[in-house]
This record gives sequence, structure tokens and C-alpha cells, in this order.
Amino acid sequence: MMAVPPFVSVITDSSLAETGDIGTLQINLGRMCNLSCKHCHLGAGPKRREMMTGDAVDACLELLRKHAFETVDITGGSPEMHPAFKRLVSAARPLCENLIVRSNLTLLLEPGYDDLPEFFARLSVEICASLPHYTKTVDKTRGDNVFARSIAALLKLNSLGYGRGCLSLNLVFNPGGAFLPPSQASLEREYRDVLKRDYGVVFDGLLTITNNPLGRFGDFLERSGNMESYMEKLYNAFNPATLPGMMCRSQISVGPDGSLYDCDFNQAAELPIAGATIFNADSALDPRKIRFGQHCYACTAGQGSSCGGAIKT
Ligand code: SF4
Ligand code: SF4
Repeated sequence: MMAVPPFVSVITDSSLAETGDIGTLQINLGRMCNLSCKHCHLGAGPKRREMMTGDAVDACLELLRKHAFETVDITGGSPEMHPAFKRLVSAARPLCENLIVRSNLTLLLEPGYDDLPEFFARLSVEICASLPHYTKTVDKTRGDNVFARSIAALLKLNSLGYGRGCLSLNLVFNPGGAFLPPSQASLEREYRDVLKRDYGVVFDGLLTITNNPLGRFGDFLERSGNMESYMEKLYNAFNPATLPGMMCRSQISVGPDGSLYDCDFNQAAELPIAGATIFNADSALDPRKIRFGQHCYACTAGQGSSCGGAIKT
């Protein structure tokens, strides 16, 4: 096996190792989730209890009032399970242009959450819904019956106008193992054809995300002895053209305890932005050095990867 060089050594233009204009505030409300997917970089699941405090939720809203963020991106775990979820979404909606909620779809059918599709539609919330494949193979990585429940939730969202041009519905693909995603554009065509033909489901776009070697997926790589070969695969596919579009250059990410990070992956890697929290966030909005690690090769391999899918180069 070859030694993969430190990620910082492949960034030859130092300006790309710094943040630019921060346009996105990503808020991770907690690690609790009704699923326990094998590829989860955060190791989220039903037994996780970390949740953002009410004070930190208030501080996120305060920051949104003070600073003009174009996009607010609410994630988890299942962010919908946080008790302040609806309060946060309702208050944040008028404070940004786009408000994205990352949903695993299945929760939207469960008692106590089944009014959320209408709630999202009323507020024109953009939904990024994980659906790691267009067939039942999804159940292998996410659990029994998850695919069928995801399709039922998508049909409900379609019935409210999602994916039909006015309310935005994007699907998220993750590979089912230690390999890179295929071309986002061609996979999107496959998803579109099969989901329409077999289930009558429509959506706006497909976002492909490379599995990051952290959390539950990182544990799987270690256990199966595949960590080194996966890192080598990412390194061999390193594409310098993706560096300007790394999402950490234009966002900050708030963790459940109010710590600030460059991105959700750095939350999993426990690499916070030094000296700033959501209660004291101003300095994190100024240009600063990004905290990179070896996991960053997942963002820069092949077509690149971010919470917005492949990176435009
Ligand atoms: S990948 Fe998403 S849906 Fe799956 S366990 Fe993690 S947070 Fe939950
Ligand atoms: S993992 Fe985070 S810090 Fe590293 S390149 Fe990706 S977005 Fe940037």
C-alpha cells in the first residue's frame, strides 16, 4: 500500500485553503435518527441523544438576523426529531433566500411527523432527500422496507407540488460501499427514468455524495481492512479542479453543542473552528484557514463531492 500524502500538501495555491464569502449556514440539530444507515459519516441512529440546546437554536437565529446568509441548510441525524425544529424553520425562513431541510423521507410518514410535508410546502422549504438508489437495494444499507417507505413519502411530496417545478425536491445518492459515485448527470437520468416509470415519482435534481471515511462508514472500513485501499482510491482520483468549489470555502456548520466547523464532515472528525462558537460567531465569518484532514480527499476525488452534490468545475 502507498502512503497517502497529507491533504494539505496537495493544495498548492494557499488561497484555496482559506474561506471566501460565507453564504451558507449549516445547522446540525443532533445525532438522533430513526434510521442507522451503514454509510452514515456521523454514526447517527435512534439511540443517539445529542441535541442542540434551545439557547444554541436561538443563537443561530440571532446570527441569521445579523448576517445575510443566502442559504440555511438544516441537517442531523433526522433534524425533524428536534423539539425546536418547526420553530427554527419558521423563524429562519424569512431570513434567507433558500432554506434546505435534509430528510431521510421515512420519518415523514411516522405518527407525529406526518404533517411535515404540508408544513414544508407552506414555507417553500427545499427538501434534500436521501435515496441511495432507485431500487430496493436501498434496504441493504438503510434497513428493511426503507425503500418502499421512501417512495411513499416521495409520492406524498409530489402530490403537494414538490419536484414539479415550484417546490424544490432533490434526491441524494451515496455509493453502497467503498467506491466513488458514478457520473452525477448520467445517474440522474437513470433515477429519473426508473422512478417515473416504476413508481410515478418526479424530482428536480440528483446530488451524488462520496462516502466520507468517518463515523459508521469509517468504522466499517477499519473493521473490514479496507481503510487504506479506500484512502488510496480517493487519493488516486484527486482532482485539483474541485478545490475552488469545496463547500468549506463558503459555509460554516454549527454542531449540536454550538461549536462551529468548516463542514459537517469536520464535525464527525472533531475538527472545530478554533476560538468561535455560535454564541461568538463573528470571527468565523472573516476569511480564515480551513481545518483539513485526510477525509478531505473524499470531497476532491473525481467529480468532487459536497452537500450540493458533485462540484462544478
Ligand atoms: S445517513 Fe442520514 S438517515 Fe442515515 S443514519 Fe445518518 S443521518 Fe440518519
Ligand atoms: S471535508 Fe470539509 S473541510 Fe474537508 S474538503 Fe470537504 S468540506 Fe472542506
